[in-house]
Amino acid sequence: MHGTSFFCVILILVEFRIPSILIPKGEQQCNICGVQTSLWLTRGHNNHATQKYDIIGGKKRKVNCLNCGSSDRDRLLKYFFDDITPIGNLLHVAPEKALSRYFKGKSNLNITKIDKKVGWYKLVYGYNVKYGDLTKLPFDDGCFNWVVANHVLEHIKDEQQAIHEIYRVLKQDGKAILQIPFSFKIKSTIDGECHWTSTERESQLGQKDHVRLYGLDFLKRWNLFHIQLYLLKDINDYERFNLNPQEPVILVSKTIETKELKHFKSIRFEEILKT
Ligand SMILES: [Zn+2]
Repeated sequence: MHGTSFFCVILILVEFRIPSILIPKGEQQCNICGVQTSLWLTRGHNNHATQKYDIIGGKKRKVNCLNCGSSDRDRLLKYFFDDITPIGNLLHVAPEKALSRYFKGKSNLNITKIDKKVGWYKLVYGYNVKYGDLTKLPFDDGCFNWVVANHVLEHIKDEQQAIHEIYRVLKQDGKAILQIPFSFKIKSTIDGECHWTSTERESQLGQKDHVRLYGLDFLKRWNLFHIQLYLLKDINDYERFNLNPQEPVILVSKTIETKELKHFKSIRFEEILKT
């Protein structure tokens, strides 16, 4: 990338925020910064795979908050965490800016952020992250109440090892949120071939740096790793917060969940298909 262009990208990422007072008022609301609007920025990808497979969490859509930059996924998880009121140690993998801002305001959470691109976070987001590889986490067994890894597993070749590591570092009653891009249109997850070029990956999997595209079998696939897996869906407020009605919260737990939530209910895959 040309030096000037790179500088512009950095400026946009770091500085581009429209003050809430200048954003046109609307019926919808960003639940992270509080702005009320129906105007959202576009995010996501428009390519052969996103069109053919209608990838949840991957295709182009108008969902980014003009004020704080939150995505539909950030707001879904904020809504979920408001419902469950998490406490204790939380490991945030590949920490998104808007969600980090939300977690920072929770005094009952002790946050650890990790990624492989330590310098990038400091430069672009202005906060420190610890170096960490999800397949080889630098933490003792059972030290986290929560692990949040959004749209991370589709980048990791050794998926089983990553899930094993997440499970290992969770406390006995620990939980993890593992959002992924997936498609209802494919029954079996497509694993990218090692020899595929980045262009082929984009065309077949939806993004240049993805190693697979999850299909309807991801529940069965992860169940093989002996974890409790729940899909949680918001009952009422998808439209209000400009969330994707087809995107559930993907919750992994070491124990069987019995707690009733105010805004979310556990669902079966077929129920999402009806929406
Ligand atoms: Zn916002």
